Amino acid sequence: MPQDPRPPKSARKVSCPTCGKDSLFAPSNPWRPFCSERCKTNDLGAWAAEQYRIPVKGGDEEGETPSEPPQ
Ligand SMILES: [Zn+2]
Repeated sequence: MPQDPRPPKSARKVSCPTCGKDSLFAPSNPWRPFCSERCKTNDLGAWAAEQYRIPVKGGDEEGETPSEPPQ
């Protein structure tokens, strides 16, 4: 890249991790790097849900468990 246009200080656009839209990464955007509160909470919600959905594989025996899915 020969020339890198400098964005205004502390104001640049990033892609919202949730919806992929342009999000203003600036102090004026409290939800950065997300584009909105909705996207931020949505992402956190998904993360929390993921934590809750950790599959607990029954079986305390390690090493001797056959590697086939439980029926
Ligand atoms: Zn978004």
